[in-house]
Amino acid sequence: MATEPTAALIDGIRAGDRRALARAITLVESTRPDHRDEAVELLDAVLPETGGSVRIGISGPPGVGKSTFIEAFGLHLVAQGRRVAVLAVDPSSSRTGGSILGDKTRMEELGRHPGAFIRPTPGGGHLGGVARRTREAMLLCEAFGFDVVIVETIGVGQSEIAVADMVDLFILLVSPGGGDELQGIKRGIMELADLVVVNKADGDLAAAAGRTAGDYANALHLVRPRWRAWSPQAVQCSALTHSGIDAVWSTIGQFRAAVETDGELVEHRAHQATAWMWSEVRDTLVDGLRLDERVRELLPLVEAEVAAGTTSPTAAARRLLDAFRS
Ligand code: GDP
Repeated sequence: MATEPTAALIDGIRAGDRRALARAITLVESTRPDHRDEAVELLDAVLPETGGSVRIGISGPPGVGKSTFIEAFGLHLVAQGRRVAVLAVDPSSSRTGGSILGDKTRMEELGRHPGAFIRPTPGGGHLGGVARRTREAMLLCEAFGFDVVIVETIGVGQSEIAVADMVDLFILLVSPGGGDELQGIKRGIMELADLVVVNKADGDLAAAAGRTAGDYANALHLVRPRWRAWSPQAVQCSALTHSGIDAVWSTIGQFRAAVETDGELVEHRAHQATAWMWSEVRDTLVDGLRLDERVRELLPLVEAEVAAGTTSPTAAARRLLDAFRS
């Protein structure tokens, strides 16, 4: 049986109450143990209603036009009657600190649309925590009935991998030109991309955008594909003029059709869910270990010894684990 506050949130989500959704996301963001218990209850209750949306990750260097693109793309979808949730992941930000999200008004028009829901995930630096909160927020948005959930990574760095691990399709957004070294985009990120979108294909940049898309298409041939039924593609668009936005959506449609045949998407999501379970196990164990009295007593000494090189990290880890288990 769900506790009373949780039951109210569950009912609210089922009834399409946005305030309930917002409160539920705040609940899963909390690290307080009693809140975690409620969050687990809540997620368990809505699980049967999840799984119905297209899960899209979007990443790209700052200034490439991510928020402009998501606004244009989101407006395109809501105009077709689809409901879109955007979760913005920014591991470098915190509620009170200088968040990139707080600096400017992002996706203003989309944010006002009744078919859209935009929610930044405050980071506070700990990537594992951000990933957990975002995954859970994604499930809540699905249970609420959003057709498309977009997870945008704002902070540059590790977050792309965490996001690629929770979505169906990962989009890398890039700008035209500077084909050398493919604009310094790390090979690791290229390997995650199911779709490269060259943005700013307008005005003076249109010709360069075409060349850049060609360069990426070639580069993507060299990357080991993540799917049996889908080879990564490069397309171009202009978030500013909205040209090519429909083509991005139809490419996503082709992707889904491809990976839904022979159950590859189902397999992929099952694999993601199992990996998520193990990361929960790891995080919970490490949290428990860090809170343990005996470990806390031992920790400063052991850390100092490892830093000084008088104890090996392996031996130190064993001492901490022995203290934890004893
Ligand atoms: P973000 O940092 O990746 O979220 O990038 P923004 O969406 O804030 O866009 C950065 C700059 O690029 C802004 O000045 C936008 O107006 C501009 N921009 C975004 N999309 C386009 C586009 O399709 N064409 C052109 N020419 N400029 C764009």
